[in-house]
Amino acid sequence: MYLTKDIYERLRDISPDLVIKEQEPMKNHTSFRIGGPCDLMVCPKSAAELKAVLCLLKDVGIVPCILGGGTNVLVSDEGIRGVVICMKDSLTELRLEDDLTIVCGSGVSMARLANFAADHGLTGLEFAQGIPGTVGGGMFMNAGAYGGELRNRAVRTHYINMDGSEGVLEGDAQGLGYRTSAFQKMNVIITEAVFTLEKGDPSQIRETMKDLAQKRRSKQPLDLPSAGSTFKRPEGHFAGALIERSGLKGFSVGGAMVSPKHAGFVVNTGDATAKDVKELIAAVQQRVLADSGILLEPEVQMI
Ligand SMILES: Cc1cc2nc3c(=O)[nH]c(=O)nc-3n(C[C@H](O)[C@H](O)[C@H](O)COP(=O)(O)OP(=O)(O)OC[C@H]3O[C@@H](n4cnc5c(N)ncnc54)[C@H](O)[C@@H]3O)c2cc1C
Repeated sequence: MYLTKDIYERLRDISPDLVIKEQEPMKNHTSFRIGGPCDLMVCPKSAAELKAVLCLLKDVGIVPCILGGGTNVLVSDEGIRGVVICMKDSLTELRLEDDLTIVCGSGVSMARLANFAADHGLTGLEFAQGIPGTVGGGMFMNAGAYGGELRNRAVRTHYINMDGSEGVLEGDAQGLGYRTSAFQKMNVIITEAVFTLEKGDPSQIRETMKDLAQKRRSKQPLDLPSAGSTFKRPEGHFAGALIERSGLKGFSVGGAMVSPKHAGFVVNTGDATAKDVKELIAAVQQRVLADSGILLEPEVQMI
């Protein structure tokens, strides 16, 4: 292991309150409940702490792995050799910039952002309420559901480079497309996103949120650990429908199973390993390609 006690001590010197965990099981931080230990996990609570951590890691030549809510990742059974910076519950400021504009820290949950908008009678983020994870992860993935996507509302995103310097992307420069963003090619940490919404009828906004939550509960296997939709939607098709057509509902490898409720979800039935999930994904890809001629691309990020 190349991480020495010295790095731990130097991280500790940044602040006595900085949360640092050694050999932290990643399965405790992923919605799949899968993943071996990381050498060190650091949970900065402020931009100043985050910058200090990044400067130290740059100094010792370590590129950290960034984690939000862990709801769209599959971490290997061997875990992560290096440092994980956990942004969940970090940078949680949420405020109005003006009547129609929300400034949101990247550690805020998507649900809290959607509720904040609803509380202020602002429409346009109702779809975000049921999407798990943080706004940072949401911007990285351009999260979306039921016809809505963050790209329709995100006007500006602030980030920190791995050397601690700051940057901002506005409008089209954010590169937001279907489950993609400019940030996926940048190796940066998203710190804040800014959304412009419209005035709406508060009761209608709440009604829409209630309807979407009900749709989600009725269609998705929310009782078992997963990372949501395993595959991206191929153009002109739905991944779940293609998988179902190949007769793969309920198909399993070890503890990983194609959900019998929604074929687009791979679920952990209890003791699934990352190896099980990867083998299941490969088998599904192979069968759907043979049956439909379409190669499904995983949406879940492999770490
Ligand atoms: C039950 C269930 C339902 C889901 N439904 C939907 C849905 O309807 N629509 C949808 O789009 N997704 C859905 N997802 C997937 C997931 O919730 C989203 O992709 C979410 O936006 C991921 O956010 P996160 O904070 O958990 O990111 P993580 O899973 O922690 O990370 C995802 C990627 O983003 C990067 N990242 C995270 N935070 C930052 C940051 N601050 N700066 C830079 N990079 C960062 C990570 O390095 C990683 O590559 C669902 C997942 C589950 C479990």
